[in-house]
Amino acid sequence: MNIVLLGPPGSGKGTQAQFLAENFGLVQLSTGDLFRQILQDPSHPLYDRLQVIKEGKLVSDEIVNAVVEDALIKLRDAKGVIFDGFPRTVAQAEALDRMLNSMNKKVDVVLDFDVTKDVLLHRLLGRRICRSCRRVFHIKQGYTECPECQGQLAIREDDNEEVIMKRFNEYNEKTAGVKEYYLNSGCAYIRLTVDDPDIDAEEVHQWIMRELTKRGLVQ
Ligand SMILES: [Zn+2]
Repeated sequence: MNIVLLGPPGSGKGTQAQFLAENFGLVQLSTGDLFRQILQDPSHPLYDRLQVIKEGKLVSDEIVNAVVEDALIKLRDAKGVIFDGFPRTVAQAEALDRMLNSMNKKVDVVLDFDVTKDVLLHRLLGRRICRSCRRVFHIKQGYTECPECQGQLAIREDDNEEVIMKRFNEYNEKTAGVKEYYLNSGCAYIRLTVDDPDIDAEEVHQWIMRELTKRGLVQ
C-alpha cells in the first residue's frame, strides 16, 4: 500500500506517518530526509545537483523527482511507501504516478490533513523549544524547564502568528492543484478535518484506521 500524506506544517501528519509505518510495515519517505542524506554523501550520483539547497535556492521539480525516483528504486521490494512532503506540485504528482506505474504500483491512498487555522495556531503558538537540546514541547505539558536536560524553554523565532499564517496560506495555494489531481485520480482520498486542538494522536490514528477499513484497504 502506497500512501501520500498532504497537510501543512503542524498538521500532525509526521506522527501519523510513524504510526502507519509501524502498523503496516511501510517505509516512510520524506524528501527533506533524503536531501539531507544525499548532501552528506559526495559519492551519491545526485550530490552535485542538490548543491542548490546550500545556495538557498528552490529545488526544481526535476531534481526532486530524480531524488524520489532514486529512493524508490532502492525501495523496490518494500511492502509500501508513505510519502511525506511529496508530491508538492502537480508535475511531481504526475511524475510519481509514472514512477510507480513502471513498477506495477500506484498511489493507493491519499490522506489529506485538513487542519483549521485555529488548531494550527493553538499548536504552533504553544510550542516551546529547549535552547540546549532543541527538543520541542507544548505549554499544555506544563514544563518550566526542559525535562530532559533542564535547559531553558523558548518560543521559536518563526512560531509567530504572522509567519504561521504565511506558511499556511502558501501551503494551501501550492497544494490546491495536487489535491484536485488526486481527487480526480481514482485513488482513495481520505480527508481528515481536524478542528479540535486537543484531539490526541492516538484518536486520529484510530480514525484513520476506521476509514481505511471502511474502504476495504485493510482487514
Ligand atoms: Zn533540553
